[in-house]
Amino acid sequence: MSDPSPPPPSSPDLTGRRLGDFQLLRKLGQGGMGQVYLAKQLSLKRQVAVKILRDDHADNPTSRARFQAEAEAVARISHPNIVQVYAVGEDDGIRYMALEYVDGRTLRDHLDRKGPPDLPVAVAILRQVAAALQQAAELGLVHRDIKPENILVTRKVQVKVTDFGLSRYVAGDGQPLSLTQSGMTVGTPLYMAPEQVQGKAVDHRTDLYSLGVTAYHLLAGFPPFTGATAFDVAVKHVQQEPEPLALVRPDLPPELCRIVHRLMAKNPADRYATAKEVSRELAGVLKGLSAGGGTGGPLSLNVTLTGATVSGVSLGASSAPGTLTAVPREPGRWPWRVAGVAAVLAAFAGGWWAFGRASQPDTTPTASAGPGLPELKLPTPLMSARETALRDQWRTLPPHTRPQLEAGLALALLCLSERRLDDAERVFAEMNTPPPRPVKPGEYPLPVSAAVLAKFGRAVVLAHRDQAEESVKLFADAIAAIPKKDQQWLAVEKLCFTYPEFGHAIGAAVNRDAENLPKGTSLPTTVARLRNPAALLSGPK
Ligand code: ATP
Ligand code: MG
Repeated sequence: MSDPSPPPPSSPDLTGRRLGDFQLLRKLGQGGMGQVYLAKQLSLKRQVAVKILRDDHADNPTSRARFQAEAEAVARISHPNIVQVYAVGEDDGIRYMALEYVDGRTLRDHLDRKGPPDLPVAVAILRQVAAALQQAAELGLVHRDIKPENILVTRKVQVKVTDFGLSRYVAGDGQPLSLTQSGMTVGTPLYMAPEQVQGKAVDHRTDLYSLGVTAYHLLAGFPPFTGATAFDVAVKHVQQEPEPLALVRPDLPPELCRIVHRLMAKNPADRYATAKEVSRELAGVLKGLSAGGGTGGPLSLNVTLTGATVSGVSLGASSAPGTLTAVPREPGRWPWRVAGVAAVLAAFAGGWWAFGRASQPDTTPTASAGPGLPELKLPTPLMSARETALRDQWRTLPPHTRPQLEAGLALALLCLSERRLDDAERVFAEMNTPPPRPVKPGEYPLPVSAAVLAKFGRAVVLAHRDQAEESVKLFADAIAAIPKKDQQWLAVEKLCFTYPEFGHAIGAAVNRDAENLPKGTSLPTTVARLRNPAALLSGPK
């Protein structure tokens, strides 16, 4: 296939309607399978979520029977980390499923808005998904579509996995997965196991693979395999090894990276045998974090190691509603100055949230082709709402003002995080154009000029292309291009402090350059200082 699946046809808004015992109150969202509503179950006077099922197989009795059987099987599960199925029904030709209502957002929403969470939060989420999978496996159920969209997370980081078995209903049981069939509107194969995309037998280890891919996305900020089409992605799951997580996030405990890669083993036999084992190993990682410095620093790592729930980690009551963060945090301080090893590990992740809060709009303006930014390669249906919004801001805000450059920077970093190096480079290159008019004082309070920002950005891109020598030269140029020689490092420090995600990208890029430089060549001292952003804090020498 050459295009991703078309979006589902739009359905009428059913707000206010009654379906059996359920009064639909407001629309919560729309997925590949249909709409989801907040509803009131009239007989029990409780809130529920009602999922309207787009029934592509309405006339197919086998499919209906399969759906019914699957719903019955899933209804047998009762687990704190699994969305409970209350009822299935049909009213006036509308098929629906009543589910436990979860007051939270999908993990996908969280990731799109804020990027990867702090490490203890990420591990706590993964453990709870593992607990859900363990319970399902004990009942002989395979989820088949574990992905961030199907993981709901409340403000208190309570995880609820949803849509158990539904992909079987949509995609067909035991059918080789055709990437053009209607089932693919349920999602892209971004998270699907090799055996699944090949139409081979699936079992509980298939879900473990998808858990691994989800974990990778959660920690790296992007899934391990992307591509312009569903087919490209599917082929990569079968044939390619993902870039080692430890290279993408050198700050992560190696043990955690090992767990994620083992989950993503191509051969099911090389994965973990059970989700319980995964849970146990994740608990070990948490324990290591706690031992490493969870005592009273800005990031408390008071995470319950035995149960599925966590304490000391919450979806910040003190921050914007619904945002995923670890609490408490002292604002305006570099976490690693005042805390132990664990906080150092989490410091950049924490910064990513801050970056997200400062620069990511919650609204989703529509993309329109306009002058300036050349077309990005990613087909629009695969482009996240966040990217669409950022592109819009980058194009429409007055050039060379802080909000416009911040949008550009966030856009370039997003492209970079998806390994779309050409796209990232284009954005950085555009930053390098001279301002169209003199910028008024106060209008541009960024620590470095747009031209310097662009140089750093292009140096990062070159590092990812493994053009280490060119990259290093450009990093040196970027530093040298900062006026006021005595304040160069202050400016770089401010840049990394204000935009920690960018600081992280710079540090990772210079480390990559160091590895890639020809034997006998070493980094110039100035550039070497960028390897460890913490070292910048010691100030100019
Ligand atoms: P897919 O069709 O592949 O499952 P999806 O997971 O993105 O796609 P849905 O499962 O239909 O879509 O969910 C759509 C939206 O409805 C979700 O993004 C979420 O915001 C909301 N939602 C789904 N289930 C619940 C629930 N039990 N409680 C609260 N909100 C829910
Ligand atoms: Mg879903």
